Amino acid sequence: MAKKIAVLPGDGIGAEIVPPAVKVLKAAAGKYGHEFEFRWGLIGGAAYDETGHPLPQETLDLCRESDAILLGAVGGPRWDNLPVHLRPEAGALLPLRKQLGLYANLRPVKVFPQLADASSLKSELVSGLDIMVVRELTGGLYFGEKKKEEIPGGYRVVDTLVYTTDEIDRVARLAFALAEKRGGKLTSVDKANVLESSRHWREYVQGLAEEYPNVELEHMYVDNCAMQLVRAPKQFDVLVTENMFGDILTDLAAQLTGSIGMLPSASIGGEAALYEPIHGSAPDIAGKDLANPLATILSAAMMLRITFNMEEAAADIEQAVTAVLDKGYRTGDIMQPGMKQVGTKEMGELVLEHLSG
Ligand code: NAD
Repeated sequence: MAKKIAVLPGDGIGAEIVPPAVKVLKAAAGKYGHEFEFRWGLIGGAAYDETGHPLPQETLDLCRESDAILLGAVGGPRWDNLPVHLRPEAGALLPLRKQLGLYANLRPVKVFPQLADASSLKSELVSGLDIMVVRELTGGLYFGEKKKEEIPGGYRVVDTLVYTTDEIDRVARLAFALAEKRGGKLTSVDKANVLESSRHWREYVQGLAEEYPNVELEHMYVDNCAMQLVRAPKQFDVLVTENMFGDILTDLAAQLTGSIGMLPSASIGGEAALYEPIHGSAPDIAGKDLANPLATILSAAMMLRITFNMEEAAADIEQAVTAVLDKGYRTGDIMQPGMKQVGTKEMGELVLEHLSG
Protein backbone atom coordinates (compact mmCIF):
# COMPACT_ATOMS: atom_id res chain seq x y z
CA MET A 1 0.00 0.00 0.00
CA ALA A 2 1.22 3.52 -0.80
CA LYS A 3 2.79 5.36 2.16
CA LYS A 4 1.08 8.69 2.76
CA ILE A 5 3.18 11.85 2.89
CA ALA A 6 1.65 15.20 3.82
CA VAL A 7 3.38 18.05 2.01
CA LEU A 8 3.16 21.50 3.59
CA PRO A 9 5.26 24.10 1.74
CA GLY A 10 4.16 27.00 3.99
CA ASP A 11 5.48 30.50 3.34
CA GLY A 12 8.36 32.38 1.73
CA ILE A 13 10.92 30.05 0.18
CA GLY A 14 8.79 27.06 1.29
CA ALA A 15 7.07 27.07 -2.10
CA GLU A 16 10.47 26.86 -3.84
CA ILE A 17 12.35 24.33 -1.71
CA VAL A 18 9.62 21.77 -1.13
CA PRO A 19 8.75 20.84 -4.76
CA PRO A 20 12.36 19.76 -5.56
CA ALA A 21 12.37 17.58 -2.43
CA VAL A 22 9.08 15.98 -3.51
CA LYS A 23 10.54 15.29 -6.97
CA VAL A 24 13.54 13.64 -5.33
CA LEU A 25 11.25 11.49 -3.16
CA LYS A 26 9.26 10.47 -6.25
CA ALA A 27 12.44 9.55 -8.12
CA ALA A 28 13.77 7.55 -5.15
CA ALA A 29 10.43 5.74 -4.87
CA GLY A 30 10.56 4.86 -8.59
CA LYS A 31 14.14 3.67 -8.36
CA TYR A 32 13.63 1.44 -5.32
CA GLY A 33 10.10 0.20 -6.02
CA HIS A 34 8.29 2.11 -3.28
CA GLU A 35 4.99 3.88 -3.58
CA PHE A 36 4.19 7.23 -2.01
CA GLU A 37 0.97 9.20 -2.08
CA PHE A 38 1.61 12.95 -1.71
CA ARG A 39 -1.16 15.09 -0.30
CA TRP A 40 -0.59 18.83 -0.17
CA GLY A 41 -1.89 21.13 2.56
CA LEU A 42 -1.81 24.70 3.75
CA ILE A 43 0.06 25.94 6.80
CA GLY A 44 1.32 29.24 8.20
CA GLY A 45 0.61 32.61 6.62
CA ALA A 46 -0.56 30.93 3.41
CA ALA A 47 -3.20 29.04 5.42
CA TYR A 48 -4.18 32.17 7.34
CA ASP A 49 -4.74 34.09 4.10
CA GLU A 50 -6.89 31.31 2.66
CA THR A 51 -8.81 30.09 5.73
CA GLY A 52 -8.32 32.64 8.53
CA HIS A 53 -6.17 30.26 10.62
CA PRO A 54 -2.48 29.29 10.28
CA LEU A 55 -3.21 25.67 11.21
CA PRO A 56 -6.60 24.73 9.73
CA GLN A 57 -8.29 21.61 11.09
CA GLU A 58 -8.07 20.14 7.59
CA THR A 59 -4.26 20.37 7.71
CA LEU A 60 -4.10 18.83 11.17
CA ASP A 61 -6.33 15.96 9.98
CA LEU A 62 -4.17 15.53 6.88
CA CYS A 63 -1.05 15.25 9.09
CA ARG A 64 -2.74 12.77 11.41
CA GLU A 65 -3.78 10.58 8.47
CA SER A 66 -0.26 10.59 7.02
CA ASP A 67 2.77 8.42 7.73
CA ALA A 68 5.15 11.38 7.51
CA ILE A 69 5.06 15.14 6.93
CA LEU A 70 7.37 17.23 4.79
CA LEU A 71 7.31 20.90 5.77
CA GLY A 72 8.99 23.92 4.18
CA ALA A 73 8.86 26.86 6.57
CA VAL A 74 6.32 29.33 7.92
CA GLY A 75 6.24 33.01 8.73
CA GLY A 76 7.04 36.36 7.25
CA PRO A 77 6.66 40.08 7.92
CA ARG A 78 3.14 40.13 6.46
CA TRP A 79 1.82 38.16 9.41
CA ASP A 80 4.03 39.56 12.20
CA ASN A 81 1.41 41.90 13.57
CA LEU A 82 -1.42 39.40 13.90
CA PRO A 83 -2.53 38.35 17.39
CA VAL A 84 -0.01 35.77 18.69
CA HIS A 85 -2.33 32.76 18.29
CA LEU A 86 -2.78 33.55 14.59
CA ARG A 87 0.89 34.08 13.77
CA PRO A 88 2.44 31.37 11.64
CA GLU A 89 4.99 30.08 14.16
CA ALA A 90 3.08 30.44 17.43
CA GLY A 91 -0.29 29.58 15.84
CA ALA A 92 0.73 26.73 13.53
CA LEU A 93 4.18 25.25 14.04
CA LEU A 94 4.22 25.02 17.82
CA PRO A 95 0.66 23.63 18.09
CA LEU A 96 1.34 21.15 15.25
CA ARG A 97 4.37 19.73 17.08
CA LYS A 98 2.44 19.65 20.36
CA GLN A 99 -0.72 18.09 18.88
CA LEU A 100 1.27 15.36 17.17
CA GLY A 101 3.36 14.75 20.29
CA LEU A 102 6.65 15.38 18.47
CA TYR A 103 8.84 15.79 21.53
CA ALA A 104 12.27 15.26 20.00
CA ASN A 105 13.82 17.28 17.22
CA LEU A 106 16.88 15.61 15.70
CA ARG A 107 19.26 18.02 14.03
CA PRO A 108 22.32 16.42 12.49
CA VAL A 109 25.12 18.92 12.00
CA LYS A 110 27.39 17.48 9.34
CA VAL A 111 30.04 19.26 7.37
CA PHE A 112 30.27 18.12 3.78
CA PRO A 113 34.00 17.99 2.98
CA GLN A 114 33.36 20.10 -0.13
CA LEU A 115 31.99 22.89 2.07
CA ALA A 116 34.58 22.92 4.86
CA ASP A 117 35.94 26.15 3.40
CA ALA A 118 32.47 27.76 3.33
CA SER A 119 32.32 27.68 7.14
CA SER A 120 33.12 30.86 9.00
CA LEU A 121 35.51 28.76 11.12
CA LYS A 122 38.87 27.46 9.95
CA SER A 123 38.38 24.34 7.89
CA GLU A 124 40.56 22.19 10.20
CA LEU A 125 38.12 22.94 13.05
CA VAL A 126 35.07 21.77 11.11
CA SER A 127 36.16 19.29 8.47
CA GLY A 128 34.71 15.88 9.26
CA LEU A 129 32.33 17.38 11.84
CA ASP A 130 29.37 15.09 12.52
CA ILE A 131 27.26 15.85 15.56
CA MET A 132 23.63 15.24 16.41
CA VAL A 133 21.65 17.74 18.45
CA VAL A 134 18.53 16.41 20.14
CA ARG A 135 16.34 19.36 20.98
CA GLU A 136 13.38 18.84 23.33
CA LEU A 137 10.45 20.17 21.32
CA THR A 138 7.18 20.25 23.21
CA GLY A 139 8.13 21.62 26.62
CA GLY A 140 10.51 24.14 28.12
CA LEU A 141 10.43 27.88 27.67
CA TYR A 142 8.38 27.86 24.47
CA PHE A 143 5.44 26.09 26.01
CA GLY A 144 5.35 27.35 29.62
CA GLU A 145 2.71 29.79 30.82
CA LYS A 146 3.02 33.29 29.36
CA LYS A 147 1.59 36.50 30.76
CA LYS A 148 1.56 40.18 30.03
CA GLU A 149 -0.03 42.43 32.63
CA GLU A 150 -0.13 46.16 32.97
CA ILE A 151 1.58 47.62 35.99
CA PRO A 152 2.28 51.22 36.90
CA GLY A 153 4.91 52.47 34.47
CA GLY A 154 4.50 49.70 31.87
CA TYR A 155 4.02 45.95 31.81
CA ARG A 156 5.05 42.85 33.68
CA VAL A 157 5.82 40.11 31.16
CA VAL A 158 6.29 36.45 32.04
CA ASP A 159 7.52 33.32 30.24
CA THR A 160 7.96 30.13 32.23
CA LEU A 161 10.25 27.17 31.71
CA VAL A 162 8.45 24.02 32.75
CA TYR A 163 9.46 20.35 32.55
CA THR A 164 8.06 17.20 34.09
CA THR A 165 10.26 14.20 34.84
CA ASP A 166 8.46 12.22 32.11
CA GLU A 167 9.28 14.84 29.49
CA ILE A 168 12.96 14.77 30.45
CA ASP A 169 12.97 10.97 30.61
CA ARG A 170 11.72 10.35 27.07
CA VAL A 171 13.98 12.82 25.31
CA ALA A 172 17.04 11.83 27.36
CA ARG A 173 16.49 8.11 26.66
CA LEU A 174 16.22 8.83 22.96
CA ALA A 175 19.49 10.77 23.10
CA PHE A 176 21.26 8.00 25.05
CA ALA A 177 20.06 5.45 22.49
CA LEU A 178 21.35 7.60 19.62
CA ALA A 179 24.71 8.06 21.35
CA GLU A 180 24.95 4.29 21.80
CA LYS A 181 24.58 3.83 18.03
CA ARG A 182 26.97 6.67 17.19
CA GLY A 183 30.23 7.67 18.92
CA GLY A 184 29.18 6.74 22.47
CA LYS A 185 29.28 10.24 23.94
CA LEU A 186 26.34 12.31 25.20
CA THR A 187 26.53 15.94 26.32
CA SER A 188 23.52 17.12 28.27
CA VAL A 189 23.27 20.90 28.03
CA ASP A 190 21.57 22.96 30.73
CA LYS A 191 21.84 26.01 32.96
CA ALA A 192 21.85 24.15 36.28
CA ASN A 193 23.81 26.90 38.01
CA VAL A 194 20.76 29.17 37.70
CA LEU A 195 17.58 27.30 36.75
CA GLU A 196 15.61 24.90 38.93
CA SER A 197 14.31 23.08 35.84
CA SER A 198 17.92 22.55 34.72
CA ARG A 199 18.96 21.22 38.12
CA HIS A 200 16.27 18.54 37.92
CA TRP A 201 17.14 17.87 34.26
CA ARG A 202 20.81 17.31 35.17
CA GLU A 203 20.09 15.13 38.21
CA TYR A 204 17.60 13.00 36.31
CA VAL A 205 19.79 12.52 33.22
CA GLN A 206 22.72 11.60 35.48
CA GLY A 207 20.49 8.96 37.13
CA LEU A 208 19.73 7.40 33.74
CA ALA A 209 23.41 7.05 32.86
CA GLU A 210 23.85 3.73 34.67
CA GLU A 211 21.33 2.15 32.28
CA TYR A 212 23.60 3.11 29.36
CA PRO A 213 27.06 1.87 30.39
CA ASN A 214 28.38 2.24 26.85
CA VAL A 215 27.67 5.95 26.77
CA GLU A 216 30.00 8.49 28.30
CA LEU A 217 27.80 11.25 29.75
CA GLU A 218 28.92 14.80 30.42
CA HIS A 219 26.98 17.88 31.51
CA MET A 220 27.67 21.35 30.17
CA TYR A 221 26.20 24.79 30.80
CA VAL A 222 24.54 26.22 27.72
CA ASP A 223 26.72 29.35 27.64
CA ASN A 224 29.88 27.24 27.76
CA CYS A 225 28.41 24.93 25.11
CA ALA A 226 27.92 27.88 22.74
CA MET A 227 31.57 28.77 23.25
CA GLN A 228 32.77 25.17 22.84
CA LEU A 229 30.79 24.79 19.61
CA VAL A 230 32.86 27.50 17.98
CA ARG A 231 36.11 26.67 19.84
CA ALA A 232 36.31 22.92 19.26
CA PRO A 233 33.07 21.52 17.78
CA LYS A 234 34.53 18.07 17.09
CA GLN A 235 34.58 17.29 20.84
CA PHE A 236 30.81 16.61 20.59
CA ASP A 237 28.92 13.54 19.45
CA VAL A 238 25.28 13.79 20.63
CA LEU A 239 23.88 16.79 22.51
CA VAL A 240 20.54 16.84 24.28
CA THR A 241 18.95 20.02 25.54
CA GLU A 242 15.96 22.19 26.40
CA ASN A 243 13.74 23.56 23.64
CA MET A 244 15.03 27.12 23.33
CA PHE A 245 18.64 26.25 24.14
CA GLY A 246 18.47 23.74 21.27
CA ASP A 247 16.93 26.26 18.91
CA ILE A 248 19.73 28.75 19.49
CA LEU A 249 22.60 26.25 19.57
CA THR A 250 21.53 24.62 16.31
CA ASP A 251 21.46 27.94 14.43
CA LEU A 252 24.96 28.51 15.73
CA ALA A 253 25.98 24.99 14.74
CA ALA A 254 24.42 25.50 11.30
CA GLN A 255 26.95 28.18 10.57
CA LEU A 256 29.74 25.65 11.22
CA THR A 257 28.51 23.75 8.19
CA GLY A 258 28.68 26.78 5.92
CA SER A 259 24.99 27.59 5.67
CA ILE A 260 21.69 27.14 7.42
CA GLY A 261 20.46 26.05 3.98
CA MET A 262 22.26 22.71 4.43
CA LEU A 263 20.72 21.48 7.69
CA PRO A 264 17.81 19.03 7.78
CA SER A 265 15.79 17.96 10.80
CA ALA A 266 13.35 15.33 11.96
CA SER A 267 10.79 15.77 14.70
CA ILE A 268 9.80 12.43 16.14
CA GLY A 269 8.22 10.70 19.08
CA GLY A 270 4.54 11.08 18.34
CA GLU A 271 2.10 10.28 15.57
CA ALA A 272 3.44 11.03 12.05
CA ALA A 273 7.00 12.33 12.14
CA LEU A 274 7.73 15.76 10.69
CA TYR A 275 10.69 16.53 8.45
CA GLU A 276 11.80 20.09 7.71
CA PRO A 277 14.91 22.18 7.11
CA ILE A 278 16.02 24.02 10.24
CA HIS A 279 15.88 27.41 8.56
CA GLY A 280 12.89 29.71 8.30
CA SER A 281 10.97 31.11 5.35
CA ALA A 282 13.79 33.53 4.38
CA PRO A 283 11.51 36.35 3.16
CA ASP A 284 14.59 38.30 2.03
CA ILE A 285 15.26 35.84 -0.79
CA ALA A 286 11.77 34.38 -1.37
CA GLY A 287 10.57 34.13 -4.96
CA LYS A 288 14.04 34.84 -6.39
CA ASP A 289 15.22 31.29 -7.12
CA LEU A 290 18.08 31.87 -4.66
CA ALA A 291 17.19 29.49 -1.82
CA ASN A 292 19.26 26.40 -1.17
CA PRO A 293 16.92 23.38 -1.42
CA LEU A 294 19.48 20.90 -0.02
CA ALA A 295 18.36 21.10 3.64
CA THR A 296 14.85 20.12 2.53
CA ILE A 297 16.12 17.39 0.22
CA LEU A 298 18.27 16.04 3.08
CA SER A 299 15.20 16.20 5.34
CA ALA A 300 13.43 13.98 2.80
CA ALA A 301 16.35 11.54 3.05
CA MET A 302 15.94 11.52 6.85
CA MET A 303 12.25 10.70 6.32
CA LEU A 304 13.11 7.68 4.18
CA ARG A 305 15.60 6.46 6.78
CA ILE A 306 13.69 7.11 10.01
CA THR A 307 9.99 6.73 9.17
CA PHE A 308 10.15 4.32 6.25
CA ASN A 309 13.30 2.36 7.06
CA MET A 310 14.50 2.82 3.48
CA GLU A 311 18.20 3.13 4.22
CA GLU A 312 19.38 2.47 0.67
CA ALA A 313 17.18 5.15 -0.87
CA ALA A 314 18.12 7.64 1.89
CA ALA A 315 21.84 7.04 1.39
CA ASP A 316 21.36 7.37 -2.36
CA ILE A 317 19.85 10.85 -1.97
CA GLU A 318 22.70 11.90 0.33
CA GLN A 319 25.17 10.52 -2.18
CA ALA A 320 23.50 12.49 -4.97
CA VAL A 321 23.86 15.68 -2.92
CA THR A 322 27.54 14.90 -2.34
CA ALA A 323 28.09 14.24 -6.06
CA VAL A 324 26.51 17.58 -7.03
CA LEU A 325 28.70 19.42 -4.51
CA ASP A 326 31.72 17.47 -5.76
CA LYS A 327 31.08 18.81 -9.23
CA GLY A 328 31.26 22.35 -7.88
CA TYR A 329 27.60 23.35 -8.07
CA ARG A 330 26.60 25.82 -5.34
CA THR A 331 23.61 27.97 -4.45
CA GLY A 332 24.42 31.56 -3.45
CA ASP A 333 24.57 30.86 0.31
CA ILE A 334 27.44 28.34 -0.10
CA MET A 335 29.07 29.92 -3.14
CA GLN A 336 32.85 30.04 -3.17
CA PRO A 337 35.34 31.32 -5.75
CA GLY A 338 35.78 29.00 -8.72
CA MET A 339 32.46 27.19 -8.17
CA LYS A 340 29.39 27.23 -10.41
CA GLN A 341 26.44 29.17 -9.00
CA VAL A 342 22.99 27.73 -9.62
CA GLY A 343 19.49 28.62 -8.52
CA THR A 344 17.01 26.65 -6.43
CA LYS A 345 15.41 24.89 -9.39
CA GLU A 346 18.66 23.92 -11.05
CA MET A 347 20.11 22.58 -7.79
CA GLY A 348 17.01 20.39 -7.40
CA GLU A 349 17.32 19.13 -10.98
CA LEU A 350 21.01 18.35 -10.48
CA VAL A 351 20.30 16.22 -7.41
CA LEU A 352 17.59 14.45 -9.40
CA GLU A 353 19.98 13.73 -12.28
CA HIS A 354 22.60 12.33 -9.93
CA LEU A 355 20.01 10.16 -8.26
CA SER A 356 18.71 8.68 -11.45
CA GLY A 357 22.15 8.23 -12.99
P1 NAD B 1 15.58 32.39 8.24
O1 NAD B 1 16.15 31.07 8.58
O2 NAD B 1 14.36 32.41 7.43
O3 NAD B 1 16.70 33.29 7.51
C1 NAD B 1 17.94 33.63 8.11
C2 NAD B 1 18.96 33.95 7.00
O4 NAD B 1 19.34 32.73 6.36
C3 NAD B 1 18.40 34.85 5.91
O5 NAD B 1 19.41 35.70 5.46
C4 NAD B 1 18.00 33.89 4.79
O6 NAD B 1 18.06 34.45 3.51
C5 NAD B 1 19.05 32.79 4.97
N1 NAD B 1 18.50 31.48 4.58
C6 NAD B 1 17.61 30.75 5.25
N2 NAD B 1 17.32 29.62 4.58
C7 NAD B 1 18.06 29.65 3.45
C8 NAD B 1 18.19 28.77 2.34
N3 NAD B 1 17.51 27.62 2.24
N4 NAD B 1 19.04 29.12 1.35
C9 NAD B 1 19.74 30.27 1.42
N5 NAD B 1 19.67 31.13 2.44
C10 NAD B 1 18.82 30.83 3.46
O7 NAD B 1 15.35 33.13 9.64
P2 NAD B 1 14.68 34.55 9.97
O8 NAD B 1 15.06 35.54 8.91
O9 NAD B 1 15.00 34.80 11.38
O10 NAD B 1 13.12 34.29 9.88
C11 NAD B 1 12.32 34.55 8.73
C12 NAD B 1 10.91 34.05 8.99
O11 NAD B 1 10.93 32.63 9.16
C13 NAD B 1 10.30 34.61 10.26
O12 NAD B 1 8.93 34.86 10.03
C14 NAD B 1 10.46 33.50 11.27
O13 NAD B 1 9.48 33.53 12.26
C15 NAD B 1 10.30 32.27 10.38
N6 NAD B 1 10.94 31.05 10.89
C16 NAD B 1 10.27 29.89 10.61
C17 NAD B 1 10.86 28.69 10.98
C18 NAD B 1 10.13 27.43 10.60
O14 NAD B 1 9.19 27.47 9.84
N7 NAD B 1 10.54 26.29 11.12
C19 NAD B 1 12.10 28.66 11.59
C20 NAD B 1 12.78 29.87 11.81
C21 NAD B 1 12.18 31.08 11.45
